[in-house]
Amino acid sequence: MVKVSYINPLSAEGLQIIKEYKDLNQLIQPDDSLIDMVIHTNNQKISDDEIIPKTIKQLAINKIKWAIEKKYNKNFQSSKYEYLLNEEIFKEDTIAFHILCQAIAIQFNITSRETRLFIESQSRLIEERLSKIPSLTRKEIIDEILRDIKIDNSIKWTTLKDVISSKKLSLDQLLIKNGNIILEYDEFIENYNKYFKDKPIDKMYEILVGDKVKELIISRIIMQKCEEYIKRIKEMSLTIEIHPIIKQLGEELKDIISDEILNYNNYYTGSEGIYGSLKAEKLNQKAFSPCIRNTINGVSSGGRNDAIVLLLTSFVSYARLYPKIFASEKTTVKISDIDDDLSITKNEILPLIFEAADNCSPPLFDDQPQEKLNIISKLGFGLHDKIDLKNEGETKWYTPMSCEKIKMHLPQLCKPDSNCKGINNPLSYYNRKKYQLDKESH
Ligand code: SF4
Repeated sequence: MVKVSYINPLSAEGLQIIKEYKDLNQLIQPDDSLIDMVIHTNNQKISDDEIIPKTIKQLAINKIKWAIEKKYNKNFQSSKYEYLLNEEIFKEDTIAFHILCQAIAIQFNITSRETRLFIESQSRLIEERLSKIPSLTRKEIIDEILRDIKIDNSIKWTTLKDVISSKKLSLDQLLIKNGNIILEYDEFIENYNKYFKDKPIDKMYEILVGDKVKELIISRIIMQKCEEYIKRIKEMSLTIEIHPIIKQLGEELKDIISDEILNYNNYYTGSEGIYGSLKAEKLNQKAFSPCIRNTINGVSSGGRNDAIVLLLTSFVSYARLYPKIFASEKTTVKISDIDDDLSITKNEILPLIFEAADNCSPPLFDDQPQEKLNIISKLGFGLHDKIDLKNEGETKWYTPMSCEKIKMHLPQLCKPDSNCKGINNPLSYYNRKKYQLDKESH
């Protein structure tokens, strides 16, 4: 039988596993049973020794790499991480989950891109694990988990407000009685049997409650509990000393997450050309200035709008399509002069801007969806919800902000490095650094 902690590491069973794991120094010791279990997982790729976690700390790091690959790598290979879907991993995985919560709590803010990546990945993992469990066992484990996550023997629909407002679940899909969601068979019979006298009650239960809704509720509630748990650890870390191995894991995650995401971005370079020929070319994020990198990593509520709408939108569009704007004699230029069918703008420029908007805390479009229109407008396509050639010219394609303006309006983003010397705006930084990187790679 599948263990509850395999799906919910915050269950009573999961907490017991942690209680029994007394010596945290073991986290960096080779763990033979983990290795054995990984290499004997069906369909697990073992030809590359690097992908086999040898210690629990390595397993924790691999869980994060899995999360990044799942989200960003279009050529994701499930055979690299098949062991994460092997139910025998429940103990090691529960420990890895808990040390990740601690490492993330001390290293990152609760609304950071890194924390969100981790919490969302837990939900994705739950859904994948449940989908692999044979249907009869799945029903049993789902009911067991639901019993475990109930508070005062019930689940209030209000705990799912966020899921409902995100439209992933509709109130119409839920049976609600006195504010509580009816999920278990017994509760259903007790409350609704009288209404279905002439219909097969089992079938009505399947139709009206349904496994999909239960699975979604489980994954969302566990996500929520995970966030609350990380918040609690963060508060406690002010008074309780965190183990050095976990602190070190947090520091390593900082670099791993940035580097891995960069590896999978779709904006990597080609090259040629005084800072190259300054032609429209694929973006190279490795050449972005600190202020642009800080914007992409997410800005907190203070400077969010200006950072995304004014700074990033103009920078990314010119860097990708017309990097020589400040050296050009042309006074008016339109996006379609370079990107005639707007495919680059739609497939490369807007996704990068929207992703950065999503990395803000809170995510920019959650509370200010109208900023999407302002982004389109700064690209020269008027105040519309989509870019469309017929609207081009209604507004002007906004040119990149100067360093002077950034320092004045968004000082928190300007953290100059040695390449900022003598630079007047992030676009010049980009052209110069890209030229250097191109040269080094040849
Ligand atoms: S000096 Fe200019 S390019 Fe460098 S971080 Fe500051 S604003 Fe950005």
